[in-house]
Amino acid sequence: MSEFIKTQEPKKILGHPQGLFLLFATEMWERFSYYGMRAVLTLYFTQALLFDKAFASNFYGGYTSLIYLTPLIGGYIADKYWGNRRSILVGGLLMAIGQFLLFLSGGLYDQQPSGNMLLYAGLGVMIVGNGFFKPNISSMVGNLYDPADRRKDAAYTIFYMGINLGSFIGQTICAVVGNTGRAQDFRWAFLACSIAMLLGTVIFQWGKIKYLVTWKGEPVGETPATPSVVKKTYWVLPLLFLVGLGMLWFDVNVYPILLWVPVFGGIGSLAFILMDKSLNALERQRVIVIYIVSFFVIFFWAAFEQAGASLTFFADEQVDRQLFGWTIPPALFQNFNPFFVVTCAPLMAIVWTYLGNKGLEPSSPYKMAIGLTLLSIGYLIMLPAVKDPLPGVKVSAGYLAALYFFHSVGELCLSPIGLSLVNQLAPAKYSSLLMAVWFLANVVANKLAGTLSSYYPEAGKITNFLGYQMASLYDFFLLFVVMSGVAAVLLFFLSRRLTRMM
Ligand code: GLN
Repeated sequence: MSEFIKTQEPKKILGHPQGLFLLFATEMWERFSYYGMRAVLTLYFTQALLFDKAFASNFYGGYTSLIYLTPLIGGYIADKYWGNRRSILVGGLLMAIGQFLLFLSGGLYDQQPSGNMLLYAGLGVMIVGNGFFKPNISSMVGNLYDPADRRKDAAYTIFYMGINLGSFIGQTICAVVGNTGRAQDFRWAFLACSIAMLLGTVIFQWGKIKYLVTWKGEPVGETPATPSVVKKTYWVLPLLFLVGLGMLWFDVNVYPILLWVPVFGGIGSLAFILMDKSLNALERQRVIVIYIVSFFVIFFWAAFEQAGASLTFFADEQVDRQLFGWTIPPALFQNFNPFFVVTCAPLMAIVWTYLGNKGLEPSSPYKMAIGLTLLSIGYLIMLPAVKDPLPGVKVSAGYLAALYFFHSVGELCLSPIGLSLVNQLAPAKYSSLLMAVWFLANVVANKLAGTLSSYYPEAGKITNFLGYQMASLYDFFLLFVVMSGVAAVLLFFLSRRLTRMM
């Protein structure tokens, strides 16, 4: 009888294993927590903790950068010792605790140093937690399927919807309860995030045994090491907390190491792989393609992640936020992104399929170049709005909506295909290392986003970025038009070659 049950394919929803929807729900609540908090974080820095914008931007970049660095360690520990399930449980609980520490910080924002200490502690705990949660939930999606299963791409698309649905709900709730204009209210956003993260973890625990199985009924993501070995590896948590916190503090207060550590890591790993004589010419070429694409992706996310920093300052100070007698909280503007992702993704799928049927679907490097172009257009649209500002006249919210529309469609061209590109091109031997390289691009990009946002022009001040003087918002947005535009043009030129190398 039990044999019979095991050979039956488990029940499906929309043609996919039920486990996918468990991961969908878990990730949805986690992204609620991440993006909900991100929506109000820089405003909490500037309006409650009274950091200046430059410092707040650097802090934001340091934190989000580390969020992409720790998955390298969490992914490694999971593969070798903990397995996906245990890592997600530990990571989820830590992130809920971290958000709770932020909630406490938010209650003590006017009592220093307690408020700042709790802030650092909370962010440190979340950096560790995310390192265990994020890589494991993402890889589990694929592990529910047979390696050759063609539904995998669709599964990641559905999962991407969960990410953005969570982001949408989280940013809405956090903006409304936390971004009220009163410094003491930010903490309610952090509390909401803590509850959301706890909810996600509980849902995962509830369903993991029943639903996280392959089509043969075998469990997915179980602990590979024995309990006694696992116990011996728990020291990695406090160590990672101390190292992460130390790096954050050093990066923000002394020197921006997070810009350089991943760059050297990337170059070092490339040299290491290319020295391997057992790789054939095609494998080498493919590795180089991954590096080139990762390099371009840096410029995408560096401009895109302005959302939580300079674009939120802009929404706060320069945008007309009146809507039928209601003042829209500035944090709410970031919501255009998940909104457009969820609504445009099905349209994009139709466009690619249509082009595919005609044999015209662009290859991945071309799609990424299109993504960068759309990003540049998003900033280009802002230029007339900020060209000759009249005193007291604010920019219409429609401009920011248009910017987010282009950025979101750009994201859809670039982000979902990136992971599968790395997956497909990496020689099996280096698949994890090259996935790490892909993450490193995000580490640099998020840090660079914070650094660039720190040049956000304040009235009467001129900032200078590598010799480029910025005295106005026009100059500031132009920087992003040029940066992503140049990256797009270069990638277009390289695309044909890259496609051949693949
Ligand atoms: N929005 C996506 C997520 O949160 C992708 C972000 C990224 O790769 N930088 O998972």
